[in-house]
Amino acid sequence: MKNYTQSIAAFQEAQKHIPGGVNSPVRSFKSVDGDPLFIASAKGAKVFDIDGHEYIDYVGSWGPMILGHAHPDVIMAIQKTAAKGTSFGAPTLLETEMALQIKKMVPSIDSIRMVNSGTEATMSALRLARGYTNRELVIKFEGCYHGHNDSFLIKAGSGALTFGTPNSPGVTSGTARDTLTAGYNDLDSVKELFNRYPEQIAALILEPVTGNMGVVIPEPEFIQGVRDLCTKYGTVLIFDEVMTGFRLSKGGAQQILGITPDLTCFGKIIGGGLPVGAYGGKQEIMDKLAPKGPVYQAGTLSGNPLAMAAGLTALKILDETDGFYDMLEDKSAQLGEGIKKCLADLNFPGVVNRVGSMFTLFFTEEEQVNSFADALKCNTVTYAKYFKMALESGVYLAPSQFEAGFMSAAHTSKKIDKTIEATYEALKVLKG
Ligand code: PMP
Repeated sequence: MKNYTQSIAAFQEAQKHIPGGVNSPVRSFKSVDGDPLFIASAKGAKVFDIDGHEYIDYVGSWGPMILGHAHPDVIMAIQKTAAKGTSFGAPTLLETEMALQIKKMVPSIDSIRMVNSGTEATMSALRLARGYTNRELVIKFEGCYHGHNDSFLIKAGSGALTFGTPNSPGVTSGTARDTLTAGYNDLDSVKELFNRYPEQIAALILEPVTGNMGVVIPEPEFIQGVRDLCTKYGTVLIFDEVMTGFRLSKGGAQQILGITPDLTCFGKIIGGGLPVGAYGGKQEIMDKLAPKGPVYQAGTLSGNPLAMAAGLTALKILDETDGFYDMLEDKSAQLGEGIKKCLADLNFPGVVNRVGSMFTLFFTEEEQVNSFADALKCNTVTYAKYFKMALESGVYLAPSQFEAGFMSAAHTSKKIDKTIEATYEALKVLKG
């Protein structure tokens, strides 16, 4: 057994001063019945805890670390930029450069506004859609997570689901009334809502590939159907690509699905590990934003130079490295197929869902996990045991069944093989 003395002590101290000892609930190991590791540093595919253990990391700071931790070019960009000052509250050249880089990689973006988190991006995109359409209702999908805005903490995924509060107290009944929920991969449930409220739905938001109930793969006719319904009813289609953007391809999920949303939200990768978010899309809609238009949204630190420098450096590497996404796909396929083989060899019930470098091993007796209802049937107790055994073997996974794992460019074939071996050994013990 590893000795986690320092992390345990640090957590006890943190709990006295920080709610639950963490600044974001998903960092807690509560749902896997443990104490979180306190991280001292990270490099490449590895994280190091304060007890001196090292782990192959598949959390990747929940998505941003597609190049691996502490990439030298990203760190250098941050250091050089920091030396010139950390924030000015006035325009910088870096912001236009960032807008141009994103527009180049994601053709549906005519104009883009930087904010400070994914939460801010989705919150602002919804306000903009409401201002643009002069309507109030929004459709979201059960199990999708769009940050912690009041409007989206309704049947939400990620930590809200993990900790049993998909409808958070504190969200007013008025706000909750304006959020309609439908079933992911269930186009009929979306049609029903449009039939009921044909002229009242301002926006429909979704994760074009979900990560926040674990990875659920959209059926092509579902996404196309949603696009067609939004066009028919004059509803703004918002793709929340905070997780999938620049991860699934240069142009995100919308590129691989071949569907063009009206607005897209970004976060995670575009900050290279610094706090950032963005939302953009059709010119006609973006033109409604202040100071050009009447819809207000602002931010003291928005477009922060350090975040722009880190994110821009990361995006340029993704854009300019030949075969980057093929390389990431190969690594991810090695892991995904390796875990599937573990399940098959041991005749262990489970489903591996993977799209590119996002993956989830669901512990389930079902043949597939294609919906929120399927995800809920998974055995979270088995997941918790698997998680702990993986940790003991030096593999750091998300401390919840309802999350995606992330591959980075820094994961070597050897590390991936080690992860597969650790999974095989854990499943063998679980099999009994
Ligand atoms: N949307 C999606 C799809 C996300 O995965 C997340 C965060 N996991 C968010 C929005 C919220 O982003 P943030 O945590 O930066 O506010």
